Amino acid sequence: MKKLMITLAAVAVLSSCSSSSEENTETLESTENAVAEVAEPAAPAKQEVTVELESNDMMKFNKTEIFVPAGSTVTLNLTHTGKMEKAVMGHNFVLLAKGTDIPAFVSTAIAAKENDYIPESDAIIAHTGLIGGGESTSVTFEAPAPGTYQFICSFPGHYGAMKGEFIVE
Ligand code: ZN
Repeated sequence: MKKLMITLAAVAVLSSCSSSSEENTETLESTENAVAEVAEPAAPAKQEVTVELESNDMMKFNKTEIFVPAGSTVTLNLTHTGKMEKAVMGHNFVLLAKGTDIPAFVSTAIAAKENDYIPESDAIIAHTGLIGGGESTSVTFEAPAPGTYQFICSFPGHYGAMKGEFIVE
């Protein structure tokens, strides 16, 4: 009697498996098709771009405008072409959210010396580390929504001369 029940149970499991797996296959196929159709127009969004930005002992970036495509993954390489030390002529790249009060942001940055002048702030979209002469650093981030953003060096006293527009289009 026990053996018969096991057999019956096995048959029940088998039959339910075969019928449900057929349904699953159909569901999977239609899901795959749907995903493929949606993914195609979004494919250009995976574009990767590299931006080379230089800074120097004259407290200058070599670019005042940086253009990147909307939806791209941006790798920004920052190089310090000068000779002065980080503590004297340190540079970084800090990309700020639209509408950021830059003088107010910079005053919080000055107070964050122990963190290389990167304050805790929701205004920061992306930033590199702080570098001195002869050094380089990089950061990779997703381009924000299309529009014009500001980038600065947050080292004390630098943002007036070291700033530019980061344009996502
Ligand atoms: Zn600087």
